[in-house]
Amino acid sequence: MKTDVVIIGAGAVGCAIARELSRYKLDVTVVDKNEDIGGDASKSNSAIIHTGYDASPGTLESQLVAAANPMYDKLAEELDVPFKRIGAILPAITQEQFEKLPEIKHKAFLNRVYDVEYKTGEELLKMEPNLNPEVKGGLYIPRESIIDPFILVQALAENANENGVNFLLNTKVTDIRTENGAVKEVVTTGGTITADYVINAAALYCDEIAAMVGKADYKVVARRGQFYILDKNTDCQVKQIVLPIPTKVTKGKLMCPTIHGNMLVGPTAEDLDNKTDKSVTSDGLVSILEDVKRLIPGVNIRDSITQYSGLRPNRNPEGLHVDVYDDLKGYINLSGVRSTGLTLSVAMGVYVADLMRETGAVMEPKEHFTERRKGVLRFHELDREEQDEAVKRNPLYGKIVCRCETVTEGEILDCIRRPLGARSMDAVKRRVRAGMGRCQGGFCGPKVIEILARELGITVEEVNKNNEGSYMVAGKTR
Ligand SMILES: Cc1cc2nc3c(=O)[nH]c(=O)nc-3n(C[C@H](O)[C@H](O)[C@H](O)COP(=O)(O)OP(=O)(O)OC[C@H]3O[C@@H](n4cnc5c(N)ncnc54)[C@H](O)[C@@H]3O)c2cc1C
Repeated sequence: MKTDVVIIGAGAVGCAIARELSRYKLDVTVVDKNEDIGGDASKSNSAIIHTGYDASPGTLESQLVAAANPMYDKLAEELDVPFKRIGAILPAITQEQFEKLPEIKHKAFLNRVYDVEYKTGEELLKMEPNLNPEVKGGLYIPRESIIDPFILVQALAENANENGVNFLLNTKVTDIRTENGAVKEVVTTGGTITADYVINAAALYCDEIAAMVGKADYKVVARRGQFYILDKNTDCQVKQIVLPIPTKVTKGKLMCPTIHGNMLVGPTAEDLDNKTDKSVTSDGLVSILEDVKRLIPGVNIRDSITQYSGLRPNRNPEGLHVDVYDDLKGYINLSGVRSTGLTLSVAMGVYVADLMRETGAVMEPKEHFTERRKGVLRFHELDREEQDEAVKRNPLYGKIVCRCETVTEGEILDCIRRPLGARSMDAVKRRVRAGMGRCQGGFCGPKVIEILARELGITVEEVNKNNEGSYMVAGKTR
């Protein structure tokens, strides 16, 4: 197979680059080892679209985050991605924290985040009545926002695909061949692809990809972040993102609403000696509770409906890098996309496209680029009349499969049948939220398995939870 550009990784970053490149007359192929688009880190994070107020000033990361944040209003509307500018507050509970506020505000200023405001303790308590009443004052960062991280990546990928980008899933890159100081071929478990450009957006594994072309002058360590998700009905809620005063290692443990109305509490920051341990631990969960209680004393962890963890690709030496090489034409290496990669992905797309142009790629815009994408209908968001009309159009919108999240069979079929559609239980869950609610799929799980089996023409025993071999059904008991 021959293509102009291979992008390794179908996470937020790879898919944002793919969408940006799909504006041009280029043949682009995205390769991912997973069964679904969506990445690894990109599907297990805090889902915050940052402003970059606390980034290290003058770095590429701060530049990209600051550039990305304002892009989301238009992007979310064009690509039908749930997104809300709910704002964040940074309350100082101790005198020591209070004294740090001017330094944080000044850093925000250096990062060109000019709209950060001081608030008194009283003002903050009015904004967030569940805040620790000892709050001395704090900062308000109005453009910190929340998004559906799954739909963001799906939307970028689907739109890229509609504009001609090819996606090869269940396909692991095992080697890259070079010739005369330029990339030549990408060797994968699905065959060899000849390409002029190879973009390494493999995040946690980007050091292993870089080693294939002799450019691994860094290592990536997984920094795990564990979270609680609380029920939508938990009595102690917050309306904004409530952030602690950050430390050098982490932005700290926060509490915020998710775009779908649950409460998110976490994450931890633990460096691991492997890249696969996505377990949650009692120590980690206890530390979340201890820390977040200082901000929101009434947080009720007994209302947790699930816990999860994600792995940040922590580069050693630290820092976000986008590297091109004089002695290796066509190779673009991204590394250190760590804690703000969801946010900056869309700016990274533009940055990489520009870098390609600067280094000699012919970037001719397509005459017909489709900018808009319509997502799966979100039945529960419609008013009564719209719901009636949807059911008239397609009676399967009248059949509720997931009771907790009010997800209909019509939505599940759409998410399976559309391009880059769901092929596993988790892929359905991420697209339409069947199984995301209070019962975590206890009720709708078997029904979703049946629908997947029927639609994919396989047996229920062959339906996977996620990657190949993660079967849900072992066989008949009676
Ligand atoms: C706990 C936590 C909280 C976070 N909170 C936020 C937040 O609130 N806001 C924010 O902006 N960012 C946040 N982040 C960071 C953000 O999630 C990541 O920076 C971002 O998702 C990285 O995207 P990516 O596409 O680079 O990586 P990924 O999503 O990890 O995608 C990389 C892809 O590369 C593929 N791949 C790897 N090796 C190979 C190979 N050999 N062959 C084929 N494919 C391969 C993988 O399968 C994967 O799909 C958080 C991260 C964590 C873990």
